Amino acid sequence: MRPIQATIDRSALTHNLSVVKATAKQSKVMAVVKANGYGHGLLNAAQGLAAADAFAVLGLDEALALRNAGYQQEILLLEGVFSADELLTVSEQGISIVVHCEAQMEMLENSHIKSVSVHLKMNTGMNRLGFKSEAFESALSRLAQCQQVTEITLMTHFATADEAQGVSAPFALFNRVTEGKSHPKSVANSASILRFSETHLDWVRPGIMLYGSTPVSGQSAASFGLRAAMHFTSQIIAIQVLETGESVGYGQRFTADKKMRIGIVACGYADGYPRHAPNGTPIAVDGLMTQTLGRVSMDMLFVDLSALPDATIGSSVELWGNQVPVDAVAESSGTIGYELLCAIAPRVPVRVLT
Ligand SMILES: *Cc1c(COP(=O)(O)O)cnc(C)c1O
Repeated sequence: MRPIQATIDRSALTHNLSVVKATAKQSKVMAVVKANGYGHGLLNAAQGLAAADAFAVLGLDEALALRNAGYQQEILLLEGVFSADELLTVSEQGISIVVHCEAQMEMLENSHIKSVSVHLKMNTGMNRLGFKSEAFESALSRLAQCQQVTEITLMTHFATADEAQGVSAPFALFNRVTEGKSHPKSVANSASILRFSETHLDWVRPGIMLYGSTPVSGQSAASFGLRAAMHFTSQIIAIQVLETGESVGYGQRFTADKKMRIGIVACGYADGYPRHAPNGTPIAVDGLMTQTLGRVSMDMLFVDLSALPDATIGSSVELWGNQVPVDAVAESSGTIGYELLCAIAPRVPVRVLT
């Protein structure tokens, strides 16, 4: 079997959840486990985050998988339902829904379901989902008149919580429109949790920070006390010695300027490693930091062993995890930790630590 593996450390998830709780002490925590638990496996994530007050997912299938696994917490569908059939199912299973647009409002008003809990979404500048601030008030009173709706939470999602400009304008807009309303309020994602304590309110909705990756570029996950929940590892399966002037890999993108040893690692873009990782992307071999060289291929990539004379076939490689932050690989590759974690390929065997 290829030596590649993703190890999921549930105790790191639990630890990161406790960081959220210590940061937002007054708030309830809705753990976001969409996208297969940010690549960690939905149920692996839920097990590590079992102490969360609620879960958020995208699809009804994910919500049902959590219910079937025995989770009793509130479960929220972040995009709401896509059909009247789904509305029936969420009502029967006690799953909460976002209502973000007129079409969903009408579906709800015209339904004969018994009860459902709704998170009404305001668009505060992301312009993705949600009622514009001018339309929010009337959407809220329509919901309040729906006998099917048993509980209403007011929510928004910030476009710039991780940017220099912050959230003051959209947050002020949300506060102005929802002022005096007694409904619970929910606005903060990971970046907002870590940067803007005034946004914690009744609920917080952390995603990426639970998995031990940073939501704020330029500030490491470790600096927030977070631990990597995914350790992506493999081994060296071949060694090559390059003479001066020899190149390695497709396109000969790296050429040796001295005689050097390189290691061939059993991991490529078909495993979820970013093909855009340039020469010099951080990687660890036998616990020592080194760098990738040459173009990442489908099933293999190359590491510099110049400073690692003891490295050999079978040496362990950490693609990302404790030693190599996923965020460092992401930054080198022009992306964010979220994308790398979510893109771990189905062919990578997963091992779960408890
Ligand atoms: C994905 C998502 C979150 C979590 O965001 P992170 O940046 O991963 O913390 C919170 N709220 C909504 C509506 C989301 O879609």
